[in-house]
Amino acid sequence: MIKLSKEETIIAEEFLRIKEDSGSHSPSVLTLKKMLSGIDIKVDACFLSNPYATDLFLKYLESDLIENRLIRDVLEFYPSQNDIIASAIAKSIKVNKENIFVGNGAIEIIQVVMKNLVRDNVVIILPTFSSYYEFVNQNTKCLFYNLQKDNDFLLDIDDYISFVKSNKAKSIVLINPNNPNGNYIKYEEMIRLLEEFRYLDNIIVDESFIHFAYEDNQYSLKSVADFIERYSNLIVIKSMSKDFGIAGVRAGYAIMGEQTVRSLTKDGFLWNSNGIAEYFFSVYSNSGFLKEYEIVRKRYIIETHDFIKRMNHIKNIKVYPSMANFILIELLDGSTAADFVMKLLIKYGIYTRIGNDKIGLDGEFIRIASRKFEENLYIYECVKELMEEN
Ligand SMILES: *Cc1c(COP(=O)(O)O)cnc(C)c1O
Repeated sequence: MIKLSKEETIIAEEFLRIKEDSGSHSPSVLTLKKMLSGIDIKVDACFLSNPYATDLFLKYLESDLIENRLIRDVLEFYPSQNDIIASAIAKSIKVNKENIFVGNGAIEIIQVVMKNLVRDNVVIILPTFSSYYEFVNQNTKCLFYNLQKDNDFLLDIDDYISFVKSNKAKSIVLINPNNPNGNYIKYEEMIRLLEEFRYLDNIIVDESFIHFAYEDNQYSLKSVADFIERYSNLIVIKSMSKDFGIAGVRAGYAIMGEQTVRSLTKDGFLWNSNGIAEYFFSVYSNSGFLKEYEIVRKRYIIETHDFIKRMNHIKNIKVYPSMANFILIELLDGSTAADFVMKLLIKYGIYTRIGNDKIGLDGEFIRIASRKFEENLYIYECVKELMEEN
């Protein structure tokens, strides 16, 4: 069992104070580095992004903006309005630009959708990305549907359908793959849900991790975004932060009905983007970039699954099935998640996320992100040492 030393306990208390100030999200690694002196953070396995995609975007940005000196224009001038940015996105994903709503990160879109479009009640699957229930209107009821630990937190589709129906739900939220457990709803099953729930006001599908999921050995992307024509109640939310490794840029979009896009744009979401995000979306519609992106996407998926396989062999932990770029693990030897996270941070410099503050997670849970190959190896070796040699 993991035990913290006296010194480690003092640092752990300091960490908890910093974490409390970040609410339901984790303090960023930059904040921690500034505030927690005495620890050397080597691997950030708290934040969930593809580091190879960040490298790729940086390469484009350096060549286009820095070497060609366009950076001054990006900083000095106003970026385009959202309908122009939507045209660039439309080119990349083959959805009409009228159906695309641009956000300052997906968080802003979640806020807008939950506050403006979701009425009466909404079914939210637990555990979840907390913003979905934090941003609902005061008079909207959250109907929580709990994934079961005994069923590896997998979604039982039939049971879920009957829950939605018997509760007379008006809207539902599906995060696919889900955060924090990585559970993936197969494409066929998604279509079944879309068909079954045609009558609902809103089917909100968050595909922020969809680029990490696959069903064939080509790792083909399986998005439901192009079903917008067939299902007018569908809203697909997409963050670029994780799949493209650019959380600092604040880029996200949603696919939704034309009318809704128009009314939201009129309501103030005309110009809420920024120059770097506009530059990102111009690259996102560039076929050369997309080709290179496919290579780093697949490489990262392969390495992530190799990492998950390795982690599965460590004694005294349970690794829950994941199709995302992270794993949810549970400690089985009586250690607490807090002690595990602090020991990993202080002794090995690995930053992970404690799961105890997530509703729907009852037990000693930690979420660990996949990083670059060598970093994953380091995480594996440290967790193995921590769980098997104590
Ligand atoms: C991180 C995350 C978001 C928010 O992404 P931003 O674009 O950075 O605001 C949205 N949904 C899910 C499921 C996430 O994990």
